[in-house]
Amino acid sequence: MIGFSHVALIGLGLIASSISHAMRRAGMTARITGTARTESTRREAAELGLGEITETAAEAVEGADLVILCVPVGAMAAVTAEIAPHLAPGAVVTDVGSVKGAVIEAVAPLLPHHVEFIPGHPLAGTEHSGPSAGFAELFDNRWCLLTPGEDADPRAVARLRAFWESLGARVDTMDAAHHDLVLAVTSHVPHLIAYTMVGVADDLRRVTSSEVINYSAAGFRDFTRIAASDPTMWRDVFLSNKEATLDILGRFTEELFALQRAIRTGDGDHLHAYFTRTRAIRRGIIEAGQDTPAPDFGRVPKKA
Ligand code: NAP
Repeated sequence: MIGFSHVALIGLGLIASSISHAMRRAGMTARITGTARTESTRREAAELGLGEITETAAEAVEGADLVILCVPVGAMAAVTAEIAPHLAPGAVVTDVGSVKGAVIEAVAPLLPHHVEFIPGHPLAGTEHSGPSAGFAELFDNRWCLLTPGEDADPRAVARLRAFWESLGARVDTMDAAHHDLVLAVTSHVPHLIAYTMVGVADDLRRVTSSEVINYSAAGFRDFTRIAASDPTMWRDVFLSNKEATLDILGRFTEELFALQRAIRTGDGDHLHAYFTRTRAIRRGIIEAGQDTPAPDFGRVPKKA
């Protein structure tokens, strides 16, 4: 049996909502149940028709053959403890958390032996949260990384891979520690830098009134989009991917000092060589189909 007949979504935010929409778009007939912590989110999800919404996580997982944990990384352990006694034998349990090592450490010991835990992370998101933020195309051509343990059942991994592929994603498997290091470079530290830059500009704003907002050019504007990401999610990411984040942040600081020195000493060759190397990385991302080649990320200029 490759497909799943009953999918339970624990947490009903951007990611869970997008999973529900993408399942429907793929024509999957699986029953979808779901739950969220607050009554208002559950109501919103029910109104959007994301699935059968239950009051508790225990009810949502009853009889499910795929359970997807879609809550912030710091809440994974608590929801797992709640659902563990209610999981059906043979169920595949996965998650979408942005950090893998800490989630595995928190979740795996709480699960019964009769389920298969295959951690996962779709590399797709926006700066918006909540059920209404979800859309069917979110995972199209985006990577979903699975980090199964050494003793994971290959059939369960294959089923989960097929599930994500039907949602439009490309799937790869890797070791959890490697995932956390790669994501520190590609996502976590860039977010921290964006948060810092916007924070610095906010300090400056007190001096220059609204200039920072009015004249916000592409560079700063792009930072503000990233820095608008969900505070709970990102707090949890940094607290649970501490080692890799600090490692990459250390390297970042060294490079920054080298650039600072090049500016101070007028070493234009260093700056030019550095920027030439980084420009090639952008080209590589476009060639891999992971972003648009259109100027300014394809934004349409606003009419005055
Ligand atoms: P979201 O839109 O903020 O939704 C989070 C959901 O989790 C909501 O239903 C919320 O319920 C519930 N929740 C929050 N705190 C909880 C707690 N302490 N206990 C139980 N439930 C709780 O978040 P999301 O963007 O879908 O992210 C969900 C997961 O996906 C996170 O682990 C994140 O790391 C991962 N992820 C996010 C992105 C992204 O860019 N957003 C990308 C890839 C992976 P209430 O609304 O009722 O509070």
